Amino acid sequence: MVREYKFVVLGNGGVGKSALTVQYVQEFFLVRYDPTIEDSYSKTTHIDGEQIILEILDTAGTEQFTAMRDLYMKNGHGFILVYSITSQSSFNDLRDMHEMILRVPLVLCGNKCDLVDQRVVTTEQGVSMGLQMNASFYESSALKNLNVEELFVDLVRQVNRIQPKK
Ligand code: GDP
Ligand code: MG
Repeated sequence: MVREYKFVVLGNGGVGKSALTVQYVQEFFLVRYDPTIEDSYSKTTHIDGEQIILEILDTAGTEQFTAMRDLYMKNGHGFILVYSITSQSSFNDLRDMHEMILRVPLVLCGNKCDLVDQRVVTTEQGVSMGLQMNASFYESSALKNLNVEELFVDLVRQVNRIQPKK
């Protein structure tokens, strides 16, 4: 049987949730995307020799929970919390978002690491928040395709560690 993983990508608007998801699933950089669209993506892939299916919910907006998101929050196997290294508020706001998810596995992701001259959140701050959240931490670039696959693979491996395949 092919194992299925449901992941949720959370974070403030504009941090690159859609760009990361599309870079991973469809392998191109999404320059512009309607920030209000919430959609799920499916990818079949091989990780550690197993064929798996990933269902990824790319969320939009944090105010109200849509029915689809509600379902994913309840049934999600893993969460990717995204901020932009160029936005202090996107980093700060993840603390509240983290409180809604009192479950592992988690990956904390500082996206847009290609924008070095606009950086306001240091790598050390990201590392420290990751430790506090008990999450893996990566800095990524959807634009340069840096650490994008790594985020998702890390989350799959975390799920496999706590729920080994029967
Ligand atoms: P979302 O609202 O979190 O889904 O953000 P989007 O994926 O729509 O991205 C918001 C904007 O940031 C878009 O203009 C993207 O092209 C841009 N963007 C996303 N990821 C990156 C990245 O890694 N580097 C750079 N330079 N821009 C990015
Ligand atoms: Mg989006």
